[in-house]
Amino acid sequence: MKIVVGSLQQESNTLTSHLSSKKDFDIFRHEEMLRHISITDYFASIGVELIPTLYAHALPGGRLHEADFFTMTEELVAMIPKDGVDGIWLYLHGALEVERIGSGELALMRMIREKVGFGVPVALALDFHANNTYELMKLANVIIGYRTAPHRDMEETELRAARLLVHCIEDHLLPEPQMARANVVIPGDCVLTDESPLKEIMAEAAALEKKPGMLACSVFNGQPWVDAPNMGPSMVCIHEWNKETAALAAKRLARMFFEARHEFGFSVDACEPSKALDKAWIEKNRPVFVTDSGDNTTAGSAGDNAFLLRLIQKKGMTEVLVGGITDEPAVRRCQSLNVGDPVELDIGGTIEPVSARTHICGTLLYRGDIEGWYGENAGPCVVLRSNGIDIIVTAKRCALTKPRIFERLGLDIRGYRFVVVKLGYLYPDLAAVAARTILAFTTGSSTERLQDMGMKYIRRPMFPLDDNFLPHFD
Ligand SMILES: [Zn+2]
Repeated sequence: MKIVVGSLQQESNTLTSHLSSKKDFDIFRHEEMLRHISITDYFASIGVELIPTLYAHALPGGRLHEADFFTMTEELVAMIPKDGVDGIWLYLHGALEVERIGSGELALMRMIREKVGFGVPVALALDFHANNTYELMKLANVIIGYRTAPHRDMEETELRAARLLVHCIEDHLLPEPQMARANVVIPGDCVLTDESPLKEIMAEAAALEKKPGMLACSVFNGQPWVDAPNMGPSMVCIHEWNKETAALAAKRLARMFFEARHEFGFSVDACEPSKALDKAWIEKNRPVFVTDSGDNTTAGSAGDNAFLLRLIQKKGMTEVLVGGITDEPAVRRCQSLNVGDPVELDIGGTIEPVSARTHICGTLLYRGDIEGWYGENAGPCVVLRSNGIDIIVTAKRCALTKPRIFERLGLDIRGYRFVVVKLGYLYPDLAAVAARTILAFTTGSSTERLQDMGMKYIRRPMFPLDDNFLPHFD
């Protein structure tokens, strides 16, 4: 059995003004790419011959530059043999938006079908925040998503897609996934799989999946910060041969999601920025995190807004750590300095015109590189100390999702009254150590305030922009 494997992953945010480019991706090819996916051992154990292509992964960001998208996808598709392939396994995000193109996953699948035809089963492992399309259902045979948010079952999802693909190949199946939508948009930070009402919807999906002949039932929340018709929740069910059974299951899940629309809420304390800082300031237990939700780099925002830092300065707060302000020129200016040298500069607002900028006068605490979200080198970084506030400034957009990232900079997150991070919800490794998390309703391209998003191209009616409409689930 010969199976092609490939991966292209970036979650887009179309509300930010920056564009993503090929430079933002870590790219691995041929045999080397196999080290970055989790299904190699499984396929080897059943004697599958793998045909590796491309693995390309980037931090969530603005729409991907059109030419860069085609450079990467044409390379990937060129590595797929035209004939003699039994199946194709792809690990994609599902919410990649390409400049002038729209859904990147859809464009990639069209290119693949054009090359190999429709006789070869294709399985897609996607993120829970995928913005699916009806056309994608016609182009892939297996479409499944993570079952957890915050995500912790990525490897399991890759493996499930691999097993389902092998099942399709062995039993000569070419199933057509069925999708149903709920016209509901809820910020990702309120749609958590361990919390009601999503917990119950996930349990129903798991129960439906056990029905005879059903291959998979997935619930996707979609990535809400994408102004496109395919934005929002989608339920995708796949039956071996009975499309009607799959469609009914998908509609059932979509109805549940729609009917629960008023029940989604924040599981952490969420409040206005000034109040969030005041609450964090008086908290006795440590570490305390304040999340700058409007400038959340894991939702594709720039991470360059110094708004909270400026507010902390104004309030005269000390013993505070501000994590991950993106400012490439500031980092460059510090490159000739040594630890302990005086520093005076402005930081913030170098990417988004609306982001705040503030003045820093202090000393250099650290100069070196910073570790990225997936353990990769995320580029140059400095830590500055100014009037009792420590500030991590990174040259590239960065996601500080793990205690280890702080430790490697020589910073003890328990040593501060609170730590500001450019996140919405905390990722599992940080959540595990946090004594308290307070989400600050800051403005920006990952704002939690849906009415502030200025969406023009999404489907309507859409809750909460509209309510009291008769729902239909297709
Ligand atoms: Zn996600």
